[in-house]
Amino acid sequence: MPEAKLIDGKEFALELRARVGQGVAELVSSKGVKPGLATVLVGGDPASQVYVRSKGKVAAELGMASFDHRLPEETTEAELLQIIAMLNADAGVHGILVQLPLLKHIHTDRVLQAIHPDKDVDGFHPINVGRLGSIASGAPLDFPVPCTPLGCSMLLANAVGSLSGKTAVVVGRSTLVGRPVAQLLLRADCTVTVAHSRTRDLPALCRTADILVVAIGKPEFLRGDWIKPGAAVIDVGINRVPATDGKTKLVGDVAFEEARHVAGHLTPVPGGVGPMTVACLMYNTLQEARRKAGLPFAAI
Ligand code: NAP
Repeated sequence: MPEAKLIDGKEFALELRARVGQGVAELVSSKGVKPGLATVLVGGDPASQVYVRSKGKVAAELGMASFDHRLPEETTEAELLQIIAMLNADAGVHGILVQLPLLKHIHTDRVLQAIHPDKDVDGFHPINVGRLGSIASGAPLDFPVPCTPLGCSMLLANAVGSLSGKTAVVVGRSTLVGRPVAQLLLRADCTVTVAHSRTRDLPALCRTADILVVAIGKPEFLRGDWIKPGAAVIDVGINRVPATDGKTKLVGDVAFEEARHVAGHLTPVPGGVGPMTVACLMYNTLQEARRKAGLPFAAI
């Protein structure tokens, strides 16, 4: 069996970012509209600080306006909702991203529902969840779609081409990843099964899949002999584990060294799905700015 073709998410994300940057420049010159992304972080969680900083940095690199709101840990839910109301009303802000997870004293649902659906560039507002859940086969994605699932579907379409009629298994049913990935695969005319921790005989189910998307958060859980030869495997997992040199390293949810001898296409970790998330956030922000400027939806 030949080695799997590795899906280079880093390179694809850089190309997508370049296309978004070009779209930003065109929007500024044709309509005088500069897309604006507001990020909101409550508390000082180090990983969240890194994520938020990188989102703001990439937005600025692509010519967008970036509004960074860092709020202290003691911020109340009411204060956070006030800031969101202010950002909803600000015509210079086209996308609002509240970094998750929020601290325990704040209700995540209330906060996500307070973001205007047209500025919900993470795609978590119930209206956008409903839009994705009721989308017809092949219909345009002319509303914000969660960034990591959107990135998975872009990588798959680029690597495999048409997904129509293929059997897809999504392992993981989170609202953040598994469910929206399943909806996107249904839209692409796959026959989709969503597996989770109660699924019986997961290895046998996975072996039926032409397309296998794994998002469970368990290091190298999915073994090579669970994969149908030639399948396209998208590994969403990001797990930090001890390395042999006493340091740590990142691995996915799929046993990479086993999978590469069986799969037809495979995303590495790191460098697969990961870089697509920020690129798709920029894509969503540009799309919302274009929509606000009265331009019709166009894939970028
Ligand atoms: P999550 O909310 O914890 O959901 C995990 C899902 O996996 C659940 O549906 C769970 O089933 C299922 N699961 C757990 N153990 C299982 C098992 N033994 N067999 C089958 N299913 C099992 O996680 P998430 O937010 O979706 O994230 C999943 C992974 O993706 C994590 O490693 C995360 O770091 C990564 N991630 C990466 C990106 C990125 O690349 N930018 C973005 C988001 C997440 P139940 O529902 O039955 O509990």
